[in-house]
Amino acid sequence: MNFRTLRLPLAALAGLLVLTGCPDKTKTTETATTGTPAAPKLPKAPVFNADSAYAFTAQQVSFGPRVPNSKAHIACGDWLVAKLKGYGLKVMQQPFDAMTFDGTNIHARNIIAQYQPTAARRVAIFGHWDTRPFADADKDPAKKNKPMDGASDGASAVAVALEMARVLAQQPDSLAPNVGVDFIFFDAEDWGHDDVTQQELKNQLDGSGTDSWCLGSQYWAKNLLPANYKAEYGVLLDMVGAKGGSFTREETSRTNARGPLDKIWNTAATLGYSDFFRFQDTGGITDDHVYTNKAGIPTLDIYDHPSYGDDYFPAYHHATTDNMSIIDRKTLKAVGQTMTQVLYID
Ligand SMILES: [Zn+2]
Repeated sequence: MNFRTLRLPLAALAGLLVLTGCPDKTKTTETATTGTPAAPKLPKAPVFNADSAYAFTAQQVSFGPRVPNSKAHIACGDWLVAKLKGYGLKVMQQPFDAMTFDGTNIHARNIIAQYQPTAARRVAIFGHWDTRPFADADKDPAKKNKPMDGASDGASAVAVALEMARVLAQQPDSLAPNVGVDFIFFDAEDWGHDDVTQQELKNQLDGSGTDSWCLGSQYWAKNLLPANYKAEYGVLLDMVGAKGGSFTREETSRTNARGPLDKIWNTAATLGYSDFFRFQDTGGITDDHVYTNKAGIPTLDIYDHPSYGDDYFPAYHHATTDNMSIIDRKTLKAVGQTMTQVLYID
């Protein structure tokens, strides 16, 4: 995702202006607190297994960086398809070619898997499965062109979704939720041009007005699969596996999917995960949910964002430190159990 394309309210923008020349200290005005944790009795839901989600994260990382056009990318995509088919889901692939900001023509594919495909009411779980090709935000200048593992940025979200799929597929009909669930994994989210760290590189897509990020979700939004796809709401997971993960209520999410956002944050609070799901409003970011919202799916984004301090980005973001050493089962559990539980709340 591109944290740096912030769409901020004017008051926050005024605060940003004084930070010119110090872009890594991007800071938003984030003091508003909204909503109050409710404490309803929750309906029974299956247990989300954090060990399994951890193993799914490690498995993706073990392929190597999932950079489009690489062998690791193809191998991981094939593994995801096989895994989802193995759970009995209806799996579709959406291949597409795209040009990245640096003029690379990539072969990519979105992967879609439907649980209870005939259910009329549907919820979409979105994530991206590709890895950024360069750790351009690494603190070590020698590593800025090196690939990165994308353990949290990419793999963790797909791992949480995979574990949700595994658990749901195990349930007898009597314990199935009242909604069908579509797991939609976008490709080529993370090969975008970073205006701050890649100033020396020309963004060849800029002139055409094309966002260099989120190429998979941009393609999907224009070519919905399944055709005419609709869902009651969508949840984008992005960077949901790091120790000390912190999820705030992002602006585009609040604007487009306030009801589901409140339901998720309140459910997390009831489950005891308020350390992760913070009742704090933050500015908008560019991520796949921008395009799924344009496609008519009210979508919120659960992404890792430090709540306090000077840094808008987690330290591992687009750095070689985004590897298995930062992945924590507690964070995977908080997100996965909350999302599994929410599917059982009407
Ligand atoms: Zn990223």
